[in-house]
Amino acid sequence: MPIKPDNRESEDTHINSNELWHNKAAEKVVVDLGSNSDSGLSNDEVKLRLDHYGPNKLPEAKPDTLIKIFFRQFKSPLIYLLLAAGVVVLLLDEFIDAGIIFFVLLFNAVAGTIQAGRAQNTLQALRKFAKTQASVIRGGKEMIISDEEVAPGDIILLQEGEKIPADARILLSHNLRVSEAALTGESDPIGKFSDSIDNPKAGTADQRNMLFKGSHVVAGTGKAVVVATGLDTVIGKISEEMSEIESEVPLQSDIKYLSRIIIVVVLSISAIIFSLGFFVGQFDTTEIFMLAVAVVVSAIPEGLPIVMTLLLATGVWRMSKRNVLVKRLQAVEALGEAQVIAVDKTGTITRNELIVEYVYTNSTMFSVTGSGYEIDGDILLDDEAIDIDEHPEIKTLAQIGGFCSNARLSFDEESEIWKVAGDPTEAAMEVLAEKIGFSKYDLHEKYPQTDEIPFDAKLKYHAVVHEVNNTQFLAVAGAPEVILAKCSRISEGGNLRDITDQDRQEITEQFSSMSKRALRVIALAKKQTVIDELNTDSIDQLTFVGLLGMKDDIRQEVATAMVDAKDAGIRVVMITGDHRITAEAIAKEVGIFRDGDTVLTDEDIEDLSDEGLAERLDKVTVFARITPEHKFRIVSAYKLRGEIVAMTGDGVNDALSLVSADLGVAMGKSGTEVAKEASDLILLDDNFGSIISAVEEGRSIYKNIKKVLLYLFSTSLGELMIIIAAILLGYPLPVLAAQLLWLNLVTDGFLDAALAMEKKEPGLLKEKFVKPKKWIIDGYMTQRMLLMSTAMAITTLVLFSSYIDGDYVKATTIALTTMVVFQWYKVITCRSEHKSIFQMDPFSNKYLVVALAIVITLHIGALYTPVGQFLLRVEPLSLRDWAIILVASLSTIVVDELRKWAYRRSKAKAAVA
Ligand code: ADP
Ligand code: MG
Repeated sequence: MPIKPDNRESEDTHINSNELWHNKAAEKVVVDLGSNSDSGLSNDEVKLRLDHYGPNKLPEAKPDTLIKIFFRQFKSPLIYLLLAAGVVVLLLDEFIDAGIIFFVLLFNAVAGTIQAGRAQNTLQALRKFAKTQASVIRGGKEMIISDEEVAPGDIILLQEGEKIPADARILLSHNLRVSEAALTGESDPIGKFSDSIDNPKAGTADQRNMLFKGSHVVAGTGKAVVVATGLDTVIGKISEEMSEIESEVPLQSDIKYLSRIIIVVVLSISAIIFSLGFFVGQFDTTEIFMLAVAVVVSAIPEGLPIVMTLLLATGVWRMSKRNVLVKRLQAVEALGEAQVIAVDKTGTITRNELIVEYVYTNSTMFSVTGSGYEIDGDILLDDEAIDIDEHPEIKTLAQIGGFCSNARLSFDEESEIWKVAGDPTEAAMEVLAEKIGFSKYDLHEKYPQTDEIPFDAKLKYHAVVHEVNNTQFLAVAGAPEVILAKCSRISEGGNLRDITDQDRQEITEQFSSMSKRALRVIALAKKQTVIDELNTDSIDQLTFVGLLGMKDDIRQEVATAMVDAKDAGIRVVMITGDHRITAEAIAKEVGIFRDGDTVLTDEDIEDLSDEGLAERLDKVTVFARITPEHKFRIVSAYKLRGEIVAMTGDGVNDALSLVSADLGVAMGKSGTEVAKEASDLILLDDNFGSIISAVEEGRSIYKNIKKVLLYLFSTSLGELMIIIAAILLGYPLPVLAAQLLWLNLVTDGFLDAALAMEKKEPGLLKEKFVKPKKWIIDGYMTQRMLLMSTAMAITTLVLFSSYIDGDYVKATTIALTTMVVFQWYKVITCRSEHKSIFQMDPFSNKYLVVALAIVITLHIGALYTPVGQFLLRVEPLSLRDWAIILVASLSTIVVDELRKWAYRRSKAKAAVA
């Protein structure tokens, strides 16, 4: 089957290859592509074409190779310092020590490569969840498919917020406006039409009857036929690589900052020790150098970068299991800190499955039965089903509702439920129309739509023109106060008359009474005139027809999530385009709005300055009748207050506020592709509760980082103390540089990684989160660090000095083993910030159990094998030595238990007071 004209292949520039499509009439393009604008391609045909043209995707950034990752492990100032130390040792002809330093660096790089490689795989696996979808017509049916499955000749349907899956020729445009910023850099949306363009040389930007992959629909709706997919698209030809996976995270940059401090400290201490050794001590030059190297080695927490990668990658993975897709790693950090979560009402608090429950027209209130989007149901008046034919006013109302709906209802044969594509508010109107007896065919095919102003959150209405019996029928649906202000007449019993103040008052009363019951209210109006070109000026002198009260059920999970949020010290505020009364009613129901809280509306925000707005915010929990621009102002105001704000969003217009919030959260199911792209997180299940779970995970990551830092730094500090004290006391060096490396990299390497895998603590959401300082270490942590390192230094030196007169090798073996045993104990006490080790489940972290078994075996292996003895310059210890060391090292647990106990006691006292 000829899909592409033969000469297309031979053309080399994209402008030429597209020339054929934009020059031709739309129908001709469809025929040339072997498709059908009503029924699309057949499913069999799609298969053939996908085989021939391949999937519709662009090459993704190649993941870094292991070699590249391996060499990246050396790009750290900490490692440079170690390399330099290794070179110094080599120059001193200490080959074994130098060999060990280089070996250990290699070991570190291999371990780092494995971790980074795993992190990369995790991120890539997660990206698959974020696949884009496209709506197509195939075999006469509308369906939603993954955009990779789009084939040339496919008929695609477009609406606001959708990403254009492939290059396509427009067949139908209802005010289709498209942003091609990604492609051309032009930020203003471009209006698109279906007429052919004569200019054969028109460039991409001028081909206004074409759509290009990578751009997105800002407004309007339309239909187009795909002319090129994947690499054949304009963007496919331009782009070689898509964006790279981000790797730098603020947390990591905090750690970098910390590393820089460490280096300065290490270098100054080395300099001091160097001069001390030179002027005070009785060391020769080689010894002094070895000493300086030992200091460098001991003070640097070598394992830190690896553990950080491990921690973040597992965090991201854990969150994905709770239906939160982390798109940018820095989101993990912001998550733990979030103080305010601003959520959309529609879709996040409520299900965004609207059903018309009440119809008010002709001064009468009717109720509507039915369930979900099922099209069966009755209209009741005083609890009795009415005969529609006796109520022409209901028919008019339903017809206007149907006209104003661009949503697509389809019966899903597999799950046997009715599904919607498009705006649920419009779907509800369409379901109502169906219940009253208007099929989609009647409304949209028999009375073709000739013009449209798509719904816009700023205008708050949706207007369409349909051709009904050769006259133009303008149907408008929108927020009642907006519509009512544009009505001059009212339809009553099928007749039109001027609207009176009394009518307005009556309608407004009905409107607020429905709003108080948490219903979303839409007003419907009409006008029959000749309209040349529909624009916002045409929307006046309308005839008021009626009101629809729509119910949107509250999501079940919101109540528990609200309790968690409150405990966790996170303020949840609700943002909605709905009326303040509806908004307040719903917010009260779920516990967002409490007595004493206030509601801000668009008008209030309009009147306030940025500072004024920021000041008002601490009492506000509901923002009503909000437009997207105001959302941006709200985000900015929270930032002005210095609060970390997470903001949810779903529409195209939300992109700006999603980007500017500390944490932009998009809805995975109902969100537009544009919103997903602008966000840091995607809630795969659209569930507000998932944000709270993610906050919990974020906090858990912080906790584990603190545990690892405490563990690593108390070791470094202890080692430093040991060396400095030894010099001052006139002892020889208690541990050799190579031995320190063994301790820091082999022992600690396994233990800190296992500590990072510590399970989430209970009660992370039970208290407010205190944001750690830039260097993450707080006062309590510093105290524990000092206590533990002092215990380590004293115990080690006492044991060392008692063997010093005998055999130096034995004495250093004792010192090293004491320090190693300290690490075994310390990793256990570091598992919890406040809990005693007797309150912890010793086996809850299986990684730690295994890691302990490994390091114990390794150390015993080092002491009792000739290779180990030769390399580390150690000798076997007797059982008596071991017993002494195992008991003496308990001092670390004792001091830490005491500190924890004191903390718990003061906490308990504070609670009583
Ligand atoms: P939300 O934040 O709750 O989604 P929107 O900004 O979408 O609010 O809607 C604001 C108001 O505009 C609604 O209260 C409703 O009266 C009206 N409205 C919403 N969607 C439509 C639509 N598709 N057609 C007509 N009117 C609508
Ligand atoms: Mg909406």
